[in-house]
Amino acid sequence: SNQATVLDVKIDSVTMNSALSIAERFIAEKKPHMIATANAEMVMLAHQDSELAGILGQSDLVLPDGAGVVWAARYLGYTMPERVAGYDFTQQLLARSAEKGYRVYMFGSKPEIIEKARENAITRYPGLNIVGVRHGYYTAADEQAIIDDVIAKNPDILLVALGIPKQEKWIAKNMYTLKIPINIGVGGTFDGMAG
Ligand code: UDP
Repeated sequence: SNQATVLDVKIDSVTMNSALSIAERFIAEKKPHMIATANAEMVMLAHQDSELAGILGQSDLVLPDGAGVVWAARYLGYTMPERVAGYDFTQQLLARSAEKGYRVYMFGSKPEIIEKARENAITRYPGLNIVGVRHGYYTAADEQAIIDDVIAKNPDILLVALGIPKQEKWIAKNMYTLKIPINIGVGGTFDGMAG
């Protein structure tokens, strides 16, 4: 699809519907893909953090998550049909997962938040198959067990909520080991879903 470049960050010119279609294609392809969400915080951090900038550059899909980046892209003359907020995209992806039987793993946020987010999700999206959850407060000694659990649960979609840029770096480091079709850094999404 078309892309805009805002402060050296490439952002895909997608709509909610086209982004969902691309995500479903990633699942069909079965190869690991990373979806990132571009907002002002992400763009500013990438400007100072070359590792994060490199990860965004390698992402398979970068959503126009923030109103500011949509405005900036249009101001620079790019086509940017609509804002696709990461929170809304995740909700749509969960709804579609419930319809199509995609397997979802939720990783990150506080223990009580992840449990409540899971409960609310299965109420909101009947039939949703959440194959695993893991909170995001871990030490280096826990990392292998987390990876082993994700692999054992074999999800189609891994939602990672560790905050920017930790979640993007975690995905970039582990996605080729995990081999999950969709890996998304979702920031505060589970906190929103729990509330
Ligand atoms: N988080 C986590 N482990 C950490 C740091 C943060 O699980 O080591 C979670 C935090 O509980 C929250 C989410 O990451 O659910 C997003 O954090 P924050 O709002 O600080 O980040 P942002 O969305 O601004 O990137």
